[in-house]
Amino acid sequence: MERDVSEIKKNSEVRVRFAPSPTGYLHVGNARTAILNWLFARHSGGKMVLRIEDTDMERSTREFEQALMEDLRWLGLDWDEGPDVGGPYGPYRQSERLEIYRKYAVRLLQEGRAFYCYCTPEELKERAEQAIARGEDPHYDGHCLRLTEEELRRYREEGRKPVIRFHVPEGTIRFSDVVRGEVTFEGRNLSDFVILRSDGIATYNFAVVIDDALMNISHVIRGEDHLSNTPKQVLVYQALGFDLPTFVHIPMILGPDRTKLSKRHGASSVREYREKGYLPEALVNFLSLLGWSSPSGDEILPVERLIQEFGFDRLSKSAAVFNPEKLNWMNGWYIRHADLDRLTDLAIPFLQQAGFDVSDREYVKKCLAAVRDGMEYLQQVVEKCSVFFQEELEYENEELIQDPKSQEVFRRFLQETENLQDWNGDVFRAVMKKVQQSTGVKGKDLWMPVRMALTGRQHGPELIRIVEVLGLQRCRERIKKAVRG
Ligand code: GLU
Repeated sequence: MERDVSEIKKNSEVRVRFAPSPTGYLHVGNARTAILNWLFARHSGGKMVLRIEDTDMERSTREFEQALMEDLRWLGLDWDEGPDVGGPYGPYRQSERLEIYRKYAVRLLQEGRAFYCYCTPEELKERAEQAIARGEDPHYDGHCLRLTEEELRRYREEGRKPVIRFHVPEGTIRFSDVVRGEVTFEGRNLSDFVILRSDGIATYNFAVVIDDALMNISHVIRGEDHLSNTPKQVLVYQALGFDLPTFVHIPMILGPDRTKLSKRHGASSVREYREKGYLPEALVNFLSLLGWSSPSGDEILPVERLIQEFGFDRLSKSAAVFNPEKLNWMNGWYIRHADLDRLTDLAIPFLQQAGFDVSDREYVKKCLAAVRDGMEYLQQVVEKCSVFFQEELEYENEELIQDPKSQEVFRRFLQETENLQDWNGDVFRAVMKKVQQSTGVKGKDLWMPVRMALTGRQHGPELIRIVEVLGLQRCRERIKKAVRG
């Protein structure tokens, strides 16, 4: 429902919003914006609003909207108001608010703050080119501000559909930003910008102001790439008599090569990270630290601590660098500390997809316990666990298997384990000790061939853990297979 300006009460509570456009999957950069908004809301006991900015009708879809919400929820974020949960300031989809924007546009027309513009894109382009040729700024030249009755009639007869432009006044536009401090732009450097397109649909810079004002948003926290939009928005706030919110433009995220983060850097959507087996708490922790830091200097910050410690005072003024290795390190930490049952649930689909038999959950759990220390993301579970699910091993180093010293170790190993009942890491260690004593082979020459025979590989998780998972019989079978002649 539309609210009149006079009804809007002074902001007394913290109300923030995340306002994605549903034109693709949630990008990590946008996820960072959502997370910082959410942390601030939860830290201050305020409200988090989810608003869907779907005025780009061609590129926006309900599927992407759904996917955005799913990914936000997967990250562990929630919102108090939004298109799915409703709320007192709805509707929360811009496509359902078009009539509201139109009314405010008409008001600006009536007050002489905005005007109809009939120029076609071709005419605009031509005049911009002429301006450039004259060495002037290719701004909108105010052509339709001064239309004669005659011209107006002609345009209408031609059936031209006008846009509505906001008339930017001369003078300095000032606003303060929590990160940047006092920011100023000169009105003469801004074009008279379009607020309503010829199809009657509001543009971003117009709709966003009306929504933020009517939804009583207290803090606009968004990426610094929007800073150049803010002066236009400030003009609209002022023209409509709305109070300005507090602006918080958070620094950009750069790739490791210090250019703007993009697909090129491999980092892209939250969904891709999810599919690779990153844990949501690791992503939230990692993304929070892009442009913010804890007063304690700690890097591992579970969400409760993020909420407790978050504040604008520790927002960085300079761009943040997205370091994939740091994310892997952090995700590895969360994998090592995750509840094993939960980790098992998360890992099973990866193993299943690789064609491994996961029907024995307890066995899967044991495997995970053995390998999780060396993992950075869950997709690696397939590679790490293959020794537990594949009986046919291909030796990375067949020569090592055939080495007479190795063969001697294998034979002894089989003798020493022949009548064993109990089996665990300690028993295995004792067996290896005996093998060492009786063969005189020790160190790498002793352990490497056994690892190769048991796993097919030169490196991997601790052998003690592997033999415990495999059990005595499978260990013996694998060693037997390695015996030659
Ligand atoms: N829909 C805009 C975006 O996704 C929102 C910008 C804003 O927060 O004002 O970039």
